Amino acid sequence: MPVTKAEAALLSRRTGMKVEDFTWSNKGILTLMNSDITKACMFLLTDSDEKYAEGICSVYDIRPKGCQMYPTVLDKHDMAIIDDGCPYGKEFPEPSEEDSITLLNLEERLMRGE
Ligand code: SF4
Repeated sequence: MPVTKAEAALLSRRTGMKVEDFTWSNKGILTLMNSDITKACMFLLTDSDEKYAEGICSVYDIRPKGCQMYPTVLDKHDMAIIDDGCPYGKEFPEPSEEDSITLLNLEERLMRGE
């Protein structure tokens, strides 16, 4: 999951971890690392390494905007859609135009390295 610098700083303050210990640079975009053990986001509390394993986000109240929006993502035409890789996608309402704008603004901030 991509994160802005401000979101990474907040996660760092909350968890006491250094930003470089929970992010990596994906073509210049700060991205949350996965745990070597669970293969899921390192902030997901789970004891399973199975895909779609249940778990609890340990930073839920300060989770990044991309996490808040998921499974709504942008398609190649910059329209908000439900990610077809999400097994619970059918439980979510159809994305709105406002969702597209929110995700486009987020993408722009990430691309600018903010
Ligand atoms: S919601 Fe929490 S566990 Fe899931 S990707 Fe975001 S930070 Fe990680």
